Amino acid sequence: MSKKIQAIRGMNDLLPKDSELWLKVERIIIDLFTSYGYKNIRTPIVEKTETFCRAIGEATDIVEKEMYSWKESSGESLSLRPEGTASVVRSMIEHNLPREGIQKVFYQGAMFRHERPQKGRYRQFHQVGVEVFGAEDAKIDAELMMMTNSLWKKLGLKNVVLEINTLGSQEARASYREILVEYFNKYKDQLDEDSLRRLSSNPLRILDSKNKDMQSLINSAPKLIEHLDDASAEHFQQFKNYLEHLDIEYKINTRLVRGLDYYNRTVFEWTTTDLGSQGTICAGGRYDSLVEKMGGKPTTAVGFALGLERLMLLLEEQNSIATKSNISIYIVALGAKAQIKSMQIASSLHDALPDAILYNDITLGSFKSQFKKADKANANYALIIGEEELNNNQVSVKPLIDQGSQQSMDLDSAINYFKDNTKV
Ligand code: ATP
Ligand code: MG
Repeated sequence: MSKKIQAIRGMNDLLPKDSELWLKVERIIIDLFTSYGYKNIRTPIVEKTETFCRAIGEATDIVEKEMYSWKESSGESLSLRPEGTASVVRSMIEHNLPREGIQKVFYQGAMFRHERPQKGRYRQFHQVGVEVFGAEDAKIDAELMMMTNSLWKKLGLKNVVLEINTLGSQEARASYREILVEYFNKYKDQLDEDSLRRLSSNPLRILDSKNKDMQSLINSAPKLIEHLDDASAEHFQQFKNYLEHLDIEYKINTRLVRGLDYYNRTVFEWTTTDLGSQGTICAGGRYDSLVEKMGGKPTTAVGFALGLERLMLLLEEQNSIATKSNISIYIVALGAKAQIKSMQIASSLHDALPDAILYNDITLGSFKSQFKKADKANANYALIIGEEELNNNQVSVKPLIDQGSQQSMDLDSAINYFKDNTKV
């Protein structure tokens, strides 16, 4: 026998047994975003490396060490996308879309980063993201929070906390950067290797450091929120006002700076303590200067990305309502006459119970063999149509999981019975 081939480390198969939850969650997300007026956008998985370098910034973890890049024979460097925003911005500019008015879009798909694989951190992972172009008011920042908050409710997710911060204008950030560099320069001996490097390349990122030995130094550092420009302070105030009126709880985290270069003003993360150190499930913010930096006309923008693997892990960890299956019913039809009836009944059940999974027997075997198939399919109920049921214009319902007793009833009563037991 030849040697088996395995998948690449950090890149996973989604197996049929796990796909039910993924499909359901993806559907809930897409329906919700669509109901808020967002339209789907799909961009290629491969882009010019420059797209990501320019958007994300050279002095970021992604561009410094996490990208899958290669050279074409022409010499051009291409990369697998490590995130979605850069490509969406490239596409917006290329197709001149912001000129047509405010653009509200969402994307979904695989992203690739060469990281050390661990729980909640993979080399191929999946994000759903939202971007809005051309809306400057804090109302849209708040709408994104309203939409994500509503998503957690729909999924039955608990223990997620919203952390927010503001990075001010580019100018305020630039002058804060100097203040920060001055501060950290005074304590250079306490900085670790990473932070020393960042001191010249990207000093705000030092605030993001997880190194325990540096925490008190970081906590005493000057805060950006105290060096804001007036317009950004006002924008942040409005954002908080909306959140309060929407009853969305938040925590201000002055150390939240996000890993990517392009953010300004609002930044936010939805975090959980239920996933160890991979606690951020959804993150984003405003990036008002990126479109111009990528060669477009000045266009404000705000968005977020949600990590699907972490969301699924969390739903499973919490045994949330989304992990519950819809009921499945195996239709057992005995004898030739029952076959037509079983088709009619299956058709009525599909109409009346659109979320139920129906297995309409096609083996035409004995009572015993059809029940074996029902067990194998893991059906929750058997719905039996035999000679007696045909004569009485009834069906019999038998719970299969807890081995409950079989009951005969008319089809309408059976439908109501299933409606009362739609989740298992
Ligand atoms: P982290 O600090 O955990 O590395 P990040 O700042 O690099 O996250 P973003 O680039 O903001 O993450 O991506 C948005 C979301 O995508 C994250 O909050 C997370 O849920 C998810 N994500 C990012 N990287 C990975 C990965 N390697 N594997 C799985 N999910 C990921
Ligand atoms: Mg990262």
